[in-house]
Amino acid sequence: MRNLKGRLDLCSINTATLGHREPLSLTIDRIARAGFGGIAPWRHEVEKAVVAQIAKQIKALDLIVTGYCRSTYLPAATRSQWVANVNENKAALRDAATLGARCFVMVVGGLPEGSRDLSGAREQVSEGLAELLETARDCGVPLALEPLHPMYAADRSVLNTLAQALDICDALDRERSGFLGVAVDVYHCWWDPALRSSIAAAGEAGRIFAYHACDWLHQTRDMLLDRGMMGDGVVDLPAMRESVERAGYEGLVEVEIFSKENWWRRDPGEVLRTCANRLQTVV
Ligand code: ZN
Repeated sequence: MRNLKGRLDLCSINTATLGHREPLSLTIDRIARAGFGGIAPWRHEVEKAVVAQIAKQIKALDLIVTGYCRSTYLPAATRSQWVANVNENKAALRDAATLGARCFVMVVGGLPEGSRDLSGAREQVSEGLAELLETARDCGVPLALEPLHPMYAADRSVLNTLAQALDICDALDRERSGFLGVAVDVYHCWWDPALRSSIAAAGEAGRIFAYHACDWLHQTRDMLLDRGMMGDGVVDLPAMRESVERAGYEGLVEVEIFSKENWWRRDPGEVLRTCANRLQTVV
């Protein structure tokens, strides 16, 4: 496993970690100044600015865009809404290309309102991904399917385990083109009894495109906005990174922490210093 001591160039900050409290251009400068090698911005902040300008700023600072967050949810109650969702993702993929993103993070969406048709929603996801894969190839930006913890199956993602994501990858991209893979997020995957074997299989297929780090707090108070700082929770982080890297992952370790009541209330500089410290000691 790589030693991250003195290697913040191997580490990236997902801008959500700072709570989206400042303009993106300021956040980009902060992350570069703190010595990190990468950044993962969100669409709602990029789309508020001029994409080409943001891309220029990021490139000038030599930051790697470890991922562009994230997709519009795919499943819809009507066919026309589904088409609109797919098209929004195509537009976002073009922005991801402008940013030079290593991947476009696919959070696929939950059940359409009023629906109880889980397998139907999953079919809509597969169909949408098949279409987006074409655009991804055209844009040169890989799709990283991010399985979310099953507690989000209703409202955010009907894709819930790495094994399920890999099945979709194999079905849609048998040739392993390099344009369809997964994002492994500690928060979503740490509990999975098949974690080790799924990570190994993903690596074997060359499909690990991103690794998102945080921690799972023993007493999680909010299932969306109470992620822990690395080292404050229950996840064996070195063991998890070891298995991801043993599987062949050579990309950056991206910190992604949603923490409304704790880290988002702290000074952004302090948050970045803490991330840097924990990355070099406990991840
Ligand atoms: Zn993530």
